Amino acid sequence: MTDHRTRVLIIGGGFGGLFCAKGLGGADVDVTLIDRSAGHLFQPLLYQCATGTLSIGHISRPLREEFAGHRNITTLLGEALELDPDSRRVTARRPDESTFTVDYDVLVVAAGMRQSYFRNPQFEQWAPGMKTLDDALNIRQRLFTAFEIAETLPSGPDRDAWLTFAVAGGGPTGVELAGQIREMATRTLANEFHSIEPEDARVLLFDGGDRVLKSFAPELADRAAGTLQRLGVELRLGVHVTDVRREGVTVTPKAGGPEEQYAARTVLWTAGVEAVPFARHLAEVVGAPSDRSGRIEVEPDLSVAGHPEIFVIGDLVGRDDLPGVAENAMQGGLHVASCIRRELTGKPRRRYRYRDLGSAAYISRGNALLQVGPIRIAGFPGWLGWGFIHIAALTGVRNRASTVATWMATIGRSSRYHRAFMLGDSHATSDQRYTWSTCTEEPS
Ligand SMILES: Cc1cc2nc3c(=O)[nH]c(=O)nc-3n(C[C@H](O)[C@H](O)[C@H](O)COP(=O)(O)OP(=O)(O)OC[C@H]3O[C@@H](n4cnc5c(N)ncnc54)[C@H](O)[C@@H]3O)c2cc1C
Repeated sequence: MTDHRTRVLIIGGGFGGLFCAKGLGGADVDVTLIDRSAGHLFQPLLYQCATGTLSIGHISRPLREEFAGHRNITTLLGEALELDPDSRRVTARRPDESTFTVDYDVLVVAAGMRQSYFRNPQFEQWAPGMKTLDDALNIRQRLFTAFEIAETLPSGPDRDAWLTFAVAGGGPTGVELAGQIREMATRTLANEFHSIEPEDARVLLFDGGDRVLKSFAPELADRAAGTLQRLGVELRLGVHVTDVRREGVTVTPKAGGPEEQYAARTVLWTAGVEAVPFARHLAEVVGAPSDRSGRIEVEPDLSVAGHPEIFVIGDLVGRDDLPGVAENAMQGGLHVASCIRRELTGKPRRRYRYRDLGSAAYISRGNALLQVGPIRIAGFPGWLGWGFIHIAALTGVRNRASTVATWMATIGRSSRYHRAFMLGDSHATSDQRYTWSTCTEEPS
């Protein structure tokens, strides 16, 4: 018997952690939710923030505000670093690098995945991924700055390289980004420059498969490819991006043949994901098997074998080929909350059962894909469905209302209202300010 209420510690306030905490609101437990960014981020609309349609406020909400009405839920800003499963204690780091510890009776790990560069971490300085608000703002800066730099250059290969945008990865995020860059170039920026023609911007989308959007039915993926090509996106399929540097990328055909070089001063990476470091640490200290990307093997109730007090949910779950989508994380969070509530009343846990409610992908203005079981919709009806799903899933009534208002204002016009970007540290050298502050590589 313990002399305190059950202490539930949730690591990560993304879709899984948020829904788990919501499911425990008002329950006879004390919940602590730790996140390294203090906010819930709506990742599916990150690309709209990166390309200037939405602000960071539209797609994120402070966890503290989210749970202000729940007396049994505390939210903390910190990055979980270490787990001691014997003493049931997690050590976390504050932004000032100092550390603190939190004890738990039940631990829920919902820390998600990060971008993977497939053992090429050096690519990251030239090719940001798209997982966090920082990534979105970094990409926004690079995109708009590229056009500004091109405007100041004489016509020639240098200027062409600044007007060439390479996107690695033909999944939903890569497709959305590539389409949005062409829309920015052909609509938003079309009449704003004097020296360059933004419409001339090349957008290259690279993928190793034989089609984009492999998680969608082939007929939907083919329609998306047609729409992208009409927009002016150049699809390069069946190739791997094998080098990324300051001046561009090298791609290698999967079927063999010579490498190809593309001069592109803006490279964006959406090609793969891997578990965040804390998840790898967890697997190690509790001896849980994990797959190559670091997804952790779990029992049918989502707990870790031999540790019924530790649950893993969301993208980190390595079981039954569960997909890395928001719906799986939300359902996992609610499932674990229900397990905890059931145990409080002496009832046994249930198995986790994922219900696939379908998927959607934005292709271009007025054009999206929607796939729900046998139902496959593309074009304008797909776009309406896509909009409805995303608005319904956004956190906070205010975020929903302002996102709808912003979309309405944007639909009829070519403007994007959230184009502002920062150039970083004003003490940095001009080169660092324009090009990715951590870069050290000299131009060859
Ligand atoms: C650009 C993009 C577009 C997407 N589009 C779609 C879509 O259209 N539809 C769809 O269904 N899914 C989409 N997804 C996938 C979906 O967002 C994920 O499946 C979902 O977010 C997974 O939820 P999660 O709770 O497992 O992890 P996340 O939502 O990633 O949350 C993890 C949280 O953990 C925190 N964290 C990480 N490490 C630590 C640590 N050590 N300590 C403390 N906190 C930590 C992070 O800050 C984050 O808040 C998209 C993902 C991306 C990146």
